[in-house]
Amino acid sequence: MKIAAVHTHLLDHKLDHAFESASMRFDRRQHCLVEIVCDDGTIGWGEALGPAAPNAAVIKAYAPRLLGRDPLDIEVLWLELYNLLRDQGQRGLAVTALSGIDIALWDIKGKHYETSISRLLGGRFREDVKAYATGSFRKDGVDAVSDVAAETAAYAAQGFHAVKIKIGFDVDQDIAVIRAVRQAIGPDVGLMIDANHGYDVLEACAVGKAVADLDIGWFEEPVIPEQLGAYRAVRQGQPIPVAGGETWHGRFGMREPLETRAVDILQPDICGSGGFSEMRRIADMAALHGVRLVPHVWGTGVAIAAGLQFIASLPPDPPRRNGRPPILEFDRTVNPFRQAVLTTPLDHAGGIVTIPDGPGLGIEINRDTLERYKLRD
Ligand SMILES: [Mg+2]
Repeated sequence: MKIAAVHTHLLDHKLDHAFESASMRFDRRQHCLVEIVCDDGTIGWGEALGPAAPNAAVIKAYAPRLLGRDPLDIEVLWLELYNLLRDQGQRGLAVTALSGIDIALWDIKGKHYETSISRLLGGRFREDVKAYATGSFRKDGVDAVSDVAAETAAYAAQGFHAVKIKIGFDVDQDIAVIRAVRQAIGPDVGLMIDANHGYDVLEACAVGKAVADLDIGWFEEPVIPEQLGAYRAVRQGQPIPVAGGETWHGRFGMREPLETRAVDILQPDICGSGGFSEMRRIADMAALHGVRLVPHVWGTGVAIAAGLQFIASLPPDPPRRNGRPPILEFDRTVNPFRQAVLTTPLDHAGGIVTIPDGPGLGIEINRDTLERYKLRD
């Protein structure tokens, strides 16, 4: 079996209503899928986290190295592609693009051996996973406090065991939003806060201390990801567990946050931190350092499927009887092609998502959706 072609699929949808995190305004949804075709007809799918067109450009630069090669030589190919851009890469698009390729190669491997990626990774510790709802971005012209409270109450009513809300905009308003959400969802639904690196250390500590009585599960990306010393200062300066990692890439990017305990919870994204090959190493590193790992997931059904396969293979940590299982991030923002790229959606039922056990990622791609939402210049 040889690799015959590498394609990217850029998906695009203009939103009727834009929304914002502390660091980004979303007026379109755009994602980059990777399709690797083999000479025997086997096809693997992957997804790269981040801006679609730049990811596609890097994948295009990698592609000639893949043509004619054995897709089962995943570690060989991974290292060769990483080395190709190592001197100017090491992180960012060099690794997000590689992640999409790695996921597609694992999908091919699973289809070749007619088993799921989670079984190739060592087996399935679980067949389903609790999802937490990610949403509550800020919208134009609405009162953030009442809007976010109503949105999260709806997630709780749908059965989600926990919700994650966006902060990092303004300390006083954010505190009011967090208090309103805790009131709206009640005491039994988990609540996490994500500042998308919108604060400095003093602002983050002020927010953390002000809402410390509200049973917050974690405080995500309080400060910019380059400032690991600031991360540590936030851990010291307020009581909520600190989480981060979606913008750190590969094992090298995870080393210092783990070794210096910049975070209590590490959140690598399988579509951003090197694919399954590197996520295995990162999960081992987190376990070695006694740092909890909760994968970040933000993308189409391909990214969700990859996250599910990885979560199925994650051992309970610590490995006690009836240990605490991992949880799945489940994006609830508007994205018409997120599930439509799959012939069978990976939806939740009462906040629980079943993990596919078919070959590879366990999904089929709906090509009509790829054509319908194809990015047109
Ligand atoms: Mg986040």
